[in-house]
Amino acid sequence: MTEKSTEDLLDELEQNVAKALYEETVDETDETRLARSYSFTALSTAVRCPREYVCRYVIGLPDSLGGTREDDSTGTASGKGGEEPLSIREGRLFHTVVEHKWPVSTDASEWKQHASKLATARGWGDALPRVERLIDSFLASPVSSWDIDPDRVEVRFSFDFYGRTIAGHIDAIPLDSTEAYVVLDHKTGTHNPNREQLLLYVLATHLDDKLNMASPATKAAFLRVDNADEFTLDWLEIPNEEAAVEEAKATLKERIKAAEGATLDDPSPGPHCASCAYRGICDAAE
Ligand code: SF4
Repeated sequence: MTEKSTEDLLDELEQNVAKALYEETVDETDETRLARSYSFTALSTAVRCPREYVCRYVIGLPDSLGGTREDDSTGTASGKGGEEPLSIREGRLFHTVVEHKWPVSTDASEWKQHASKLATARGWGDALPRVERLIDSFLASPVSSWDIDPDRVEVRFSFDFYGRTIAGHIDAIPLDSTEAYVVLDHKTGTHNPNREQLLLYVLATHLDDKLNMASPATKAAFLRVDNADEFTLDWLEIPNEEAAVEEAKATLKERIKAAEGATLDDPSPGPHCASCAYRGICDAAE
């Protein structure tokens, strides 16, 4: 066998591997499209930039392609690879403590002890001082006295919507002092109010029977943290429940349409490129 024919064989092998990888990607793409399961975050991405949506949710490209990505729970940019930024670790630690402790205790020292154990286990000691401040602030807010069932924190939902599955999670659905269910979304990072997000969550309480709620949520709010780490409620105005549900359904339809029509050839650059995981490979990035 000559040196030339060896090179030819290697070329052929390389081409075959590339072809196999391509076909595998196409198969995954088709399966993902057929699955037709959407989260609010995925649908928001499709509206913001179709190319980013296809990269992440259709092809499933990894985040390690340059740039940063936006964290689902805090709305804060996270770095590629390596350890997450402190603000994200603080947010995650606080979320976990609220999930575990809110339904069972209002004792700040118990919450802080739990936070300390979790921080030690995760090697997140530097996140503890702020999380302890957040615990004090949360327990001083009126929200902490609302009735919360253990099944109503970090609530997973999924419901069928015109043959698609809409899935996601709601931070908490407590009963407020008027005995009304409130859909709550915690914002411990950059506050990015999104009326549509809360409306979708209210819709989920109407359409997901598995949530086993005596009645759907009639109120919704962002529980956000200000610069002094104090909690305040940003209420979503729902003057007419029926109209709100119809608005949520119409928005959902539009977003699904955007997701199902998204292609790689349709980049939508803007300030959001700064937090896009694919800016390193995108020729339209701003
Ligand atoms: S860099 Fe900007 S234009 Fe490119 S995929 Fe990301 S968000 Fe879209």
